[in-house]
Amino acid sequence: MTTFKTVALTKPDGRITCITLNRPELRNAQDTELLYELNEAFDIAARDDETSVIILSANGPHFSSGHDLREADWHARMRDFRTVGNWGGFGKPGAEAQMAREKEIYIGFCERWRNIGKVTIAQVHGKCVAGGQMLVWPCDLIVASDDAVFVDNTVAMGGPGLEYFAYPWELGVRKAKEFLFTSGSMTAAEAERSGMVNHVVPRAELAEFTLALARRIAGKPQFALKLVKEAVNAAQDAQGRSSAMATAFALHQLAHAHNMQLYGGLLDPSGIVSDSLQKNYRTEPR
Ligand code: ZN
Repeated sequence: MTTFKTVALTKPDGRITCITLNRPELRNAQDTELLYELNEAFDIAARDDETSVIILSANGPHFSSGHDLREADWHARMRDFRTVGNWGGFGKPGAEAQMAREKEIYIGFCERWRNIGKVTIAQVHGKCVAGGQMLVWPCDLIVASDDAVFVDNTVAMGGPGLEYFAYPWELGVRKAKEFLFTSGSMTAAEAERSGMVNHVVPRAELAEFTLALARRIAGKPQFALKLVKEAVNAAQDAQGRSSAMATAFALHQLAHAHNMQLYGGLLDPSGIVSDSLQKNYRTEPR
């Protein structure tokens, strides 16, 4: 079994694999290592023919504080991992390396996870901030505890949303715009009303409820689950999801280049709010 530092892998049932974000002291902030370990954990579960359902949960008081804005040498760190995409250019100057990194570890990973041939369930509690949505949105189902809060401060930080721009499909167009325009937050109940969340349950019952749902699904024929997931995902892509997301990703790269010129960093530092759970954003150029 692979040993991980920032995620944990367990099998509570032969048909169910649980992946747990395990960087609680940093509120499961997503640094490069955590994202590569999470990707490897998903791959292990995907290759396990016995597994039908994958649950993604988190240790600590919050699900995720988003991308780790404090990570030092983030571009150099791309040398430490075997990449899964083939875009390249991680050591290039200007905007090229940044685009390469985000194409690999953000939109690239999220698409890989969205297309895993197993049913995936995100189990969310506490705060799920900005990039935190990029761990739960690729999952097929989302179960949230009643204390869960979804926060998106990307526009306040000078960015046009996340790299994985699933907002219109997760929330509907109007709610997506309001969530983005206001750099707002949503309770679990609001997220459920918008169609983003399947179920909201008391915090004390979250793990038990999610596992019961996973067991109910895992009892169905595995190949039928895989095929019907592919069919629903294809319906979403027929609506133009992939091409719209590619446009949003390109605009996101423009915003990073713009902020780099104005502020010497990828984001507008005035927008780093307390809700981000990360107070020490690094503003100096790399
Ligand atoms: Zn970005």
